[in-house]
Amino acid sequence: MTRRQEIIEMLEMGEWSLEHLANHFKTTLKEIILDFEHIPKSIRPRRLKITPAYCKKCGFLFRDRTRINKPSKCPDCKSEWIEPAKYRIA
Ligand SMILES: [Zn+2]
Repeated sequence: MTRRQEIIEMLEMGEWSLEHLANHFKTTLKEIILDFEHIPKSIRPRRLKITPAYCKKCGFLFRDRTRINKPSKCPDCKSEWIEPAKYRIA
């Protein structure tokens, strides 16, 4: 089984951040992001569901982010205490 297939299995069972997956597979965030660019095609007609990243200080939600990466700072309160987005397969 390829890493991509393993990621898909994990996303079917729970929701995970990209950081968690990178740690789990002992690889870089960049590699995981590459996998994520292909996953939507592989899981059709199911879809990737995203729980948006949020600021743990003021609760700001990063709703409109289309790019897969972790926001570094809250635009509202400038906190860097950000809970990353989590992904699962619906
Ligand atoms: Zn904030």
